[in-house]
Amino acid sequence: MTARRSSVPCPQCGKAADWTAENRFRPFCSERCKLIDLGAWASEAYRVPVAEDPKEPEDSEPGAGTS
Ligand SMILES: [Zn+2]
Repeated sequence: MTARRSSVPCPQCGKAADWTAENRFRPFCSERCKLIDLGAWASEAYRVPVAEDPKEPEDSEPGAGTS
């Protein structure tokens, strides 16, 4: 009877990641890949539509050089 080690391709780097109880980072192959993926997800999640900043007209200073 052969003990088959189940593994899954790491979603981050594509390497075979052990799908075992010891692998706390599954389905990722390593903590690094997990953090990278989480970071990417977080940056996507926190990406908010940039509100249009009211452009302050720079050349609207009153009385500039009119004396
Ligand atoms: Zn990986």
